[in-house]
This record gives sequence, C-alpha cells and structure tokens, in this order.
Amino acid sequence: MLQIRCPHCDAKMSVPESMVGRSGRCGDCQERFVVRQPAQAGRSADSVAMADGESPFADVDSAAGELRGSAARQIEVDESIALEADDDPIRITADPGFPDVPRDVVDEVCEAVENRLRTGLKEDVRDADLIISIDRYDPGSRLMRYMFPFISGAARVALSVSGTINDARVDIETRAARYMGAFGGDSDKMLEACLQDCLSNILLDLDTASGREPAPFAQFWNRLRIVRWVVAGLAFVAYAAIFGAMRLPKPGPIGAGGEWFFLVIGSLFMAVSCLGIVALGPLLFAPADFLLTDPRGMKLMTRAGTKSPAVMKAAAALIFLVSCGGVLLAVILLLESRQGQM
Ligand SMILES: [Zn+2]
Repeated sequence: MLQIRCPHCDAKMSVPESMVGRSGRCGDCQERFVVRQPAQAGRSADSVAMADGESPFADVDSAAGELRGSAARQIEVDESIALEADDDPIRITADPGFPDVPRDVVDEVCEAVENRLRTGLKEDVRDADLIISIDRYDPGSRLMRYMFPFISGAARVALSVSGTINDARVDIETRAARYMGAFGGDSDKMLEACLQDCLSNILLDLDTASGREPAPFAQFWNRLRIVRWVVAGLAFVAYAAIFGAMRLPKPGPIGAGGEWFFLVIGSLFMAVSCLGIVALGPLLFAPADFLLTDPRGMKLMTRAGTKSPAVMKAAAALIFLVSCGGVLLAVILLLESRQGQM
C-alpha cells in the first residue's frame, strides 16, 4: 500500500500501488486527482507526496522500510477516508526510468501532455493511457561547447510517450539538442530550449494520434515550411545568375575586384530576406487561435518568449519589414555593381 495525501484537502489515505498513474476521487472532499509516486509529485498541483527529501524515484515498496521508515511512521493515515475509484478515461504516468531528471521537469512534461489531452483535444480524445519517459536530460558541457561548438558538449533532451489514445497504439519519440551559444551557452537555458522543442513535437504527434484535423491555417503553415526553403533557394540561385549575367558584356574573369565576394554576399542576403518574407508575412494574418492553441503556433510563441498574439505579430511585422529592406538592399547592390562596370 502507498500512503498519499489529497492535494486538495490534505486528507491522508492509503491506496494500493496499482493506483499509481490513475485518478481517483478523495473520499473526504470529493475532488479528483491523479495518484503519482511520491518522488514524481514535486510541486504539481494534482499530485501527492508524503516523503520529502527522499532520493528521487525510490522504490515505493521501501516506504515502510528502513530508508524512509521515519517519514512513513509520522504519517497517520485516516482509515475512514478512502480514494474512490474514478472512471477518468485519461491516465498519464511518468516512467521513473531516468534518475537525473529534476522533479519539476517531469511534472512540466506530464502537465503539458495532460493539458493537451484534457483541454486542447477534449473533443477528440475519448480515452488515453500514456506512459511518459524522459530518456535523456543531459546538460552537456559548456566548456566543450565553447571550445568545440557544433562538435562536442551539446545539451540534449529526449522524451518518449507510449501507450494508447482512443484504443490505438501510440509510440512517440523525440529528441532535441543545442550545440552552441554565447560563451558556450548557459546549460539550463539550453536544456529548457531542448525540452520546449521536444514538448512541441510531442503535442503535435498527440494531435495526429488523436485524429485531430489541423485547422486550415495550420495546414497552410505546414506546407509553408517546405515552400519557404524552396523560395530561399530559388532566390539565391536567381540572384547569383542575374549577378553573373550582368557581368557578361565585360570580358575577363569574374573574380576581379572582389566581385565573387559581392555575388555570394548579395545572393545570401537575398535568400535570407526572401526566407523572412515568406516565413513571417503569413504570420501577420494568423488567427489568434493558431497562436494560442495549435502546437505549431504555441511553439512560435514560446520561441518569441511571449504569451500575447499581438506582441508576436508586432515582432513578426518588424522582421518582415527588415526582410523587405534586405531585398531592396540586395537589388541596390546588384544595380551598383552593374554601374561600377560601365
Ligand atoms: Zn480531499
């Protein structure tokens, strides 16, 4: 048996260990909560913890043993209060496989998944039984990143979610890494960025697994992901070709006078500017719903560090205008280089 505390009214009760990951209704206050193993409870609002200061993911069986004997004895379970079985169709369990993951990270992941299933996908998910596992949570080495960026010391996070959604099997695995940052990059920030990347991938896959059809703008945004790189590539090639062609009337090698340098810089400038226009222009017309509730939009908001669609759009408008200026500059460079020849 596992001794737990109701997170709503603090009533103490004992429940079978098979209840871990399942939800029940407190016999005292009638509020519903999910039973988690004490080590996974942390600061989560809907979880319960009895033993503080224990090593994370300690075996529950040892609750009455020597290790946590003193903590367990201090708990006086009220036998009259029971956890009533609840037919909650959504069950999320954290797999305590990886010992070095901070509790609040485990909670953050569980809560993000639970929120998506319970609110974002409320109409699509009839039942879910998922096990979440943090397979890797590695800060890497700031020193190594500083000395050998892109080669060693990367911060890495890997998550997996397995189980069933609407009785269909789900197996999601995702990983993210950060290879460099200013002075090697702050490990905590890099881990957080990796975690957010992984989370947004998982939310997207949960949407797919639940059978949710993306909203029209989300579908358009998906297609745009490829289109914008194609546009940038075409812009690079076209600019380079035009730049080269304008040199044709003049005999001699093109390399003279640093022209190669201008050709490459101008083409890159053109490509990046076109990328900015194609990527951010449509965002100005994105419905607030996309930014607030679609995993793709939520990822953009997280990256921009804002919760307000208006701020997000203002930032997008700014980058869009800068990109338009970039195209203009690239064209001026082209015309200047032509004038220089005459
Ligand atoms: Zn209660």
